[in-house]
Amino acid sequence: MTHETAAGKLGKAAILEWLTEENEGKLVGLWNAADEVRRENVGDEVHFRGLIEIGNYCNRKCAYCGIRFGNANIERYRMTKSEIVDCAKLAAELGYGTVVLQSGEDPGIERKWMAGVIEKIKAETGLAVTLSLGEREFADLAAWKSAGADRYLLKFETGDSNLYSKIHPPATGESAEVNERLKILSQLKELGYETGSGIMLGIPGQSYESNADDLLLFKTLDLDMIGIGPYLPHPDTPMGAGEFKPLPPCEQVPASELMTYKVIALARLVCPHSNIPATTALATLNKERGRELGLARGANVVMPNLTPPKYRIKYEVYPGKACIAETAQACYACLSARLEVIGRTMGEGAGGRNRSGV
Ligand code: SAH
Repeated sequence: MTHETAAGKLGKAAILEWLTEENEGKLVGLWNAADEVRRENVGDEVHFRGLIEIGNYCNRKCAYCGIRFGNANIERYRMTKSEIVDCAKLAAELGYGTVVLQSGEDPGIERKWMAGVIEKIKAETGLAVTLSLGEREFADLAAWKSAGADRYLLKFETGDSNLYSKIHPPATGESAEVNERLKILSQLKELGYETGSGIMLGIPGQSYESNADDLLLFKTLDLDMIGIGPYLPHPDTPMGAGEFKPLPPCEQVPASELMTYKVIALARLVCPHSNIPATTALATLNKERGRELGLARGANVVMPNLTPPKYRIKYEVYPGKACIAETAQACYACLSARLEVIGRTMGEGAGGRNRSGV
């Protein structure tokens, strides 16, 4: 018998069955169901979110991330306001609907300065603006919403609070018991942001069981965007150096390409209307077909990189990133050609979450 695939109805037992399924023939049933639910609910359009990595200063010590505080092997940078606005203009010229401004968690990115950047992008391009600047205080988030920001992306990484507190040590004054990010996600909703979150797959210590809970949490959080990427070891981090022990193989989620497709497909079934990217981390595992297969198994978004190459190489959250040396124009041309091959089209407009389907 094949497992349950009804959209919006999957329970934990059915999710767990799929997460541990290895039979390729059976998995085709999952890929097909996710593709159909994607087509019915968000259509054939693929939305382009141009990623601008505005700085790599960070005051956190995430055990997995290459731009963590204290990594002396990278040179730090912050882009200037005019450099960021120029990238956004390029996004508009290429026909993208959204720019995503991402950085380390950097108090040097001040509330007022950032608000000015957002206002200028909105005034000069009208593009949707997504922020991904880590955990910031409510007053910052409120000011940036007033300045015109539309969306915020903050992955909760894993819903297993015990594992999370180990891989993402709390900031001074914070409790190790709670995933601060879940609290901030609800603040973002309150402020009227479209809210994105997500997880890494294959963190040493991450169980299939907790992963099934993560999928159910996507639904509880009513996420507008869900980013799912494999964990990729960075040698200059405690996790990449092997300080975190995996669970026994029957319990440990692998950081594999196949696992990523399974979770993308299940996320589509659990949250039919959400925007789900085929992530760069996935394309890093399979440079030839990763994005296309992600798009064929539930995803409807891509995030081409717009960061000027001189900065891009310094934004190394993990090594070997796909398309690291490409110009923005080359990324656009490559992705458009890939879409044509798989019979999909570039989305027009901002491509926000459409709750009613297509
Ligand atoms: N400081 C911000 C944004 C930068 S990191 C924040 O923490 O939200 C953006 C995303 O990159 C993270 O959410 C994480 O999921 C991913 N990432 C970081 N290190 C990674 C690694 N080693 N492998 C895979 N993904 C990683």
